[in-house]
Amino acid sequence: MTKKNSLEGNKKVCTECGETFTWRNSGDVWPGGKDREYIYCPYCHAENGSIMTSGAVITAKVSE
Ligand SMILES: [Zn+2]
Repeated sequence: MTKKNSLEGNKKVCTECGETFTWRNSGDVWPGGKDREYIYCPYCHAENGSIMTSGAVITAKVSE
């Protein structure tokens, strides 16, 4: 059941610059210690939503 961590996460199109990037959760490492982490565009650093996690959000550019 363990899913392998891959650089391919959830695809998102930046609301600011329109570039496509992927983001993923680095993992819920602290049970019960969830906090709000924001998803920032790796191109222009605009905020693109947030998730609740005890880990961190990792974003990556998508090169075509
Ligand atoms: Zn952007």
